[in-house]
Amino acid sequence: MDLEAVDESALEGNVAKLFDQTAAHHGDAQAMEHHGRRWTHAEVRDWTAELAGGFHDLGLEPGDRALLFLPNCPQYLIASIGAFKAGVEISPVNPQYKRREVAYQLEDTDAGAIVTHPALREVVDEALDDAGMDPEIITIRSEDWPRDPEDHAFEELRGEPTMVERADDDVALLPYTSGTTGDPKGVQLTHENTRAQLMWPLTASNVDVEPENVRSLTWLPLYHITGFTHTALQPLVGGGRLYFRSALEWDAQECMQLIEDEGITHYVGVTTMYADMVASEDFGEYDLSSLESASEGGAKLSPSVQERFEEVAGVDISEGYGLTETHGATHTQSGSTFGLKHGTIGQPLRMTDCKIVDGSGDEVAPGEEGELVVRGPQVMKGYLNMPRATEAAFTENGYFRTGDIARRDGNNYYEIVDRKKHMINTAGYNVYPSELENLLLEHEAVADAAVVGIPDERRNEVPKAFIVPTEGVDPGSDVTADELQEFCLAEVAEYKHPREVEFIEELPRTTSGKIQKYKLEDDAA
Ligand code: AMP
Repeated sequence: MDLEAVDESALEGNVAKLFDQTAAHHGDAQAMEHHGRRWTHAEVRDWTAELAGGFHDLGLEPGDRALLFLPNCPQYLIASIGAFKAGVEISPVNPQYKRREVAYQLEDTDAGAIVTHPALREVVDEALDDAGMDPEIITIRSEDWPRDPEDHAFEELRGEPTMVERADDDVALLPYTSGTTGDPKGVQLTHENTRAQLMWPLTASNVDVEPENVRSLTWLPLYHITGFTHTALQPLVGGGRLYFRSALEWDAQECMQLIEDEGITHYVGVTTMYADMVASEDFGEYDLSSLESASEGGAKLSPSVQERFEEVAGVDISEGYGLTETHGATHTQSGSTFGLKHGTIGQPLRMTDCKIVDGSGDEVAPGEEGELVVRGPQVMKGYLNMPRATEAAFTENGYFRTGDIARRDGNNYYEIVDRKKHMINTAGYNVYPSELENLLLEHEAVADAAVVGIPDERRNEVPKAFIVPTEGVDPGSDVTADELQEFCLAEVAEYKHPREVEFIEELPRTTSGKIQKYKLEDDAA
């Protein structure tokens, strides 16, 4: 969408006004396609407005909350934008969650409604029992599943078209942080935060791009911020069209086939997805030349995977960085002054003010490591019901502490070194697990690696490596723990090398691609 054409009134208050602007300019263009059904941008505008009216008819008021417990599908976006229009705060729930996890989010948000799918109805009922709550239940239609008579049918929930006024700092979205550590926290993202993320690709966009030619494959889970912001909201508001697949049905070959068949132009994946694609026997036989952009975020991109993908697919992967608390990106390579630079997350987005600071909060020089802190219109208001955690998350000057250790070069390209809390302190030395992981990945017998700290009486902690061997490699005979330890000892300081090496079949990862280190730490303990 051409930014010049956007009505100024859409640049404040309710963020849903921006989607209506898209419909005003590209109403007939196709917005979504799913199993052969199609919706135009005008249909999305009308459906979301009527759904907002439907929410009000059910008794939901502006400021009330609704859980969104659904796999990826068009209704996911309709429910989200409909909720924005109704002023209802929407809280996405991982569709893999079980009763206890759903009950936690129900209680923490005090949700007045839950939008779900018939296949998830049993978990919803169990969670409602546990929480002792009775919100409205809205179920999307499913041909092969009878609806509970108590449910409101999503497709029929249409009222008077509605768009309520919202202040910039009213909450629009309440995702919970990925929970690789600690209690899940509800992240309060405002209408302004959402608008900030929608605006930067518009302001940075190449005006020669016809919105109708933007086709995004939404395969990252929509409950997670990367999928929601970067594979769905941004291309949609830009006038593009979305194709949906569920993260639970991930299939690298089907993904490449879809890119070829539908001429997908815009793909955002996690490192595991790219790794699966390049590992497919027939990678190279698919025509991926429609891809204008391929991006990665949420975890560090493996250099060997990146190289192979770029060589064969003919498109560079642009790595980005961000968090749930920043509604997605704070840094991207693609918009950076000197183009893509492998191994970095690029430069900060123009709207993002960031620094790398030492333990006392002072900014460090280029090349030095410290914690990355960020400020900008995309940074959350705070954590729901957790004033102390919110206070601890910000510096005195209002910078959000990312908890990531980073360094930057003289051209202001940033590199993520590791998570602060994953840092291993061994006999007073700091060891960043990612340094060892990257090193181990260079060994031909290693397909995947994760390093965690394990308790040690003398040294406080020592590094332990979990290794997934390359296919066909037999651990114990083809490669041994001793051999990998020697390999590390030859390359890094003695205190850094893994004191223990264990071979496992697969690393535990979240659907957003992150290694669940706490599971490995538990195993190691
Ligand atoms: P989440 O809130 O689930 O999006 O997780 C945010 C965290 O993911 C960040 O704090 C980083 O630790 C990690 N992360 C995101 N992007 C990258 C990246 N490009 N490289 C390394 N870590 C990343």
